[in-house]
Amino acid sequence: LVQLSMPLNFMGMIYREIKQALIDIDDMFRILHRNPEIADRPGAPALAVGPAVLRFEDVHFAYNPDRPILRGVSFAVPSGKTVAIVGPSGAGKSTLSRLLFRFYEPQGGRITIDGQDIAAVRQDSLRAAIGMVPQDTVLFNDTIGYNIRYGRWEATEAEVREAARLAQIDRFVAGLPEGYDTPVGERGLKLSGGEKQRVAIARTILKAPPILVLDEATSALDSFTEREIQDALDRVSRGRTTLVIAHRLSTVVNADEILVLDKGTIVERGDHAGLLAQRGVYAAMWNRQREADAARQALERAAQDR
Ligand code: ADP
Ligand code: MG
Repeated sequence: LVQLSMPLNFMGMIYREIKQALIDIDDMFRILHRNPEIADRPGAPALAVGPAVLRFEDVHFAYNPDRPILRGVSFAVPSGKTVAIVGPSGAGKSTLSRLLFRFYEPQGGRITIDGQDIAAVRQDSLRAAIGMVPQDTVLFNDTIGYNIRYGRWEATEAEVREAARLAQIDRFVAGLPEGYDTPVGERGLKLSGGEKQRVAIARTILKAPPILVLDEATSALDSFTEREIQDALDRVSRGRTTLVIAHRLSTVVNADEILVLDKGTIVERGDHAGLLAQRGVYAAMWNRQREADAARQALERAAQDR
């Protein structure tokens, strides 16, 4: 019996771990980028978070030595401010967030939070301090309430509802047959991309991390949904140190600083107005996207009239 129950127990544990890992995007990110070479140093202290000042200092990084990805990237996100990173696909934007989570380590330079090198603190404490709203949220096969509460299990009913309200998913939930007890996910109600993203935002609001990383949706959300999500993201990032990886420039207009990353270096930096005045890479991207937006909105209007 002992022989049998042991492996069953063990398998149950593994099963639960895999089930959780595969359906939670934070963990999925973690698994995909798990790197056994990166371990806590013996006796590493926990990260002590104060004002949550984030700093990349001359960061150099390559996945393969023959192909540098980041070539000396320096910037800071002051306490409670928002820095947006824009740039072409493959520029190294997501790599910055992987380094921040310490799935990889820079080969040169360092990343600090409140002056502490993230390589010198415990990884669990680092990851507890950072909330991530991914591009594509995968939901648990459980109730919508459970999916929101995942951000912080101890949250009260009232806190869950407040998070849902801030994420602008509360009215949607109110319209569901069983409200917060409605099953969602693969075997329940299917949510749209925008609804799932708002669930992820509600989760992150509950988690209330001092540092936020937002990887914005590129997916074809209609303009209305996109605006609603943007409002919700603005709310969750207010007062938090936030790094936004932005695909849509309309969402970075209010960022405190915008960095244009290209081939692993920051080629332009400034606020929206300053960058437009430079008439460089950013201004060109902005004009291109405005034309694309106008075309898309005309299509949406035409579809509505039909
Ligand atoms: P972005 O988010 O700006 O589109 P990424 O940071 O994801 O770009 O990737 C930057 C470059 O690094 C890309 O050329 C990509 O192909 C490469 N890259 C990303 N992940 C890996 C990896 N695990 N191994 C090797 N190369 C990678
Ligand atoms: Mg990316």
